[in-house]
Amino acid sequence: MTDPVRVVIVGGGTAGWMTASALARFLPGVADVRLIESEEIGIVGVGEATLPHLRAFLQRLGIDEAEMMRATNATFKLGIDFRDFGKIGERYVHPFGAYGVDLAGVGFHHYWLRAREEGLRHSIEDYSLPIMAARANRFAFPPADGDFLATSYGWAYQFDATRLAPMLRGYSEARGVVRTEGRVTGVERNGENGDVTQLVLESGKRVAGDLFIDCSGFRALLIGGAMDAAWEDWSRWLPCDRAAALPTQSMPGAIEPYTRATAMGAGWRWHIPLQHRVGNGYVFSSSFLSEDAACDAILGAVEGTPLVDPRVLRFRAGRRRESWVGNVVSIGLASGFLEPLESTSIHLAQMAVMRLIELFPERQIDPADRAAFNATVDYEYDRVRDFLILHYHATTRDDSDFWNHVRTMELPDSLAGKLELWRESGRIEQYGEGLFLEPSWIAVYLGQGMMPARHDPRADNPSTPVLAKALDDISRTIRERVDAMPDHEAAIRAHGAWGTA
Ligand code: FAD
Repeated sequence: MTDPVRVVIVGGGTAGWMTASALARFLPGVADVRLIESEEIGIVGVGEATLPHLRAFLQRLGIDEAEMMRATNATFKLGIDFRDFGKIGERYVHPFGAYGVDLAGVGFHHYWLRAREEGLRHSIEDYSLPIMAARANRFAFPPADGDFLATSYGWAYQFDATRLAPMLRGYSEARGVVRTEGRVTGVERNGENGDVTQLVLESGKRVAGDLFIDCSGFRALLIGGAMDAAWEDWSRWLPCDRAAALPTQSMPGAIEPYTRATAMGAGWRWHIPLQHRVGNGYVFSSSFLSEDAACDAILGAVEGTPLVDPRVLRFRAGRRRESWVGNVVSIGLASGFLEPLESTSIHLAQMAVMRLIELFPERQIDPADRAAFNATVDYEYDRVRDFLILHYHATTRDDSDFWNHVRTMELPDSLAGKLELWRESGRIEQYGEGLFLEPSWIAVYLGQGMMPARHDPRADNPSTPVLAKALDDISRTIRERVDAMPDHEAAIRAHGAWGTA
């Protein structure tokens, strides 16, 4: 057996400890993992809303869901409730699940579009179990042996971002990951090929490695510093570059099993209910609003009592042209950032970690593996980028300079093509896997008032009364099933997932 690859991770935020946990779990004996982090620098401390894919990651690590939820004071999340995006006063939920039931291989939304042309007044939301459950503040796990409707949804978590990394640290250290406290102040490189050979800490200590993983957050110490990897800037499409974060006390009443995103004059604000408090923040563009004005706006908008003063975070939209350069792989904020409108950042880190494990190199890195990794990261980032831009473009809002700008900005060709396909035929570009499959695009298109010119002609098939009855049956079944679900907080408690605050 060859010697293990010496892996050095810089950074102990969510990305760093996710990476350490996965390497320790999936590559024991293959990777010898060390993580360096600086308590003095700390972690970004936001990142509370997630996507359902995180469940698979935690399951593969063997982490018990209820234990994780107790440790992070987590709640369940069935989707995102978008308010005032398409038009002020309107709202829709982007659910983690399907609409209705596909009939004869034709997407349900085509039948809904047809029925609407024939006078149906019901919103498409009435045919989504996760949306109706979210609106009723209820939650239940889909039954393992349920029918299509009963299993038509997934769930994610809303958790305290400062508590996940410590939990994963315990997991990693129990599996042999060695943590070193200290600030990295120097990087030594091989004079011939430019690879990083060792890191120098403030204390003078040196840490050598074969593969270095940059999880140093926005600082991007290795990938942006030593390796000087080019940055692809996307701020022309995603102009928000600041967030004023403000946690508040929970309000009495039901805990919502969804994240709220409410459009504001120069961006939008999040509302993420946890067990013990609510996370809030105003994501805005500094070209349209000052930091002070954003802090005032979020203080004025929140419902509960603030727990601290607003904290402004600065960022820019984009990604490294290459996330893996030489023997440095960047994961998390060091690799790129797309604003949190669809809670995608932790997922992008997860995707990168799992891809790295698939392509894990020997001491000598194969350039083909590096290229494959970079291609996957590019593809995933590009797709998320287009989906986010859609939320800003598909609007009739003209009440501020910000909304006038994003409504009329030029779109990337890749998104323009998707929009044309939808507008003409109600079709969604198909991909087999990854983020934002058909129901997600349908949610935003329809939720923000973008109707296609026609439905799929195959949906003309059942007669009007047959279709009307099928739709009635689906919405009635969904109502009955939601009525039978427990209240969200009761579901968390029954799962043994309620923390002690
Ligand atoms: P960080 O948490 O910043 O960790 C960086 C680590 O590097 C720290 O341990 C630090 O000490 C260490 N470090 C840095 N420099 C050095 C050095 N010189 N020496 C030693 N150590 C060093 N994501 C979601 O999925 N959902 C959300 O809802 C969401 N909301 C967000 C809202 C905002 C406003 C922002 C800015 C981000 C949000 N994110 C969200 C992103 C999410 O916070 C991050 O993806 C996640 O926390 C991972 O961060 P990280 O580990 O890459 O960086």
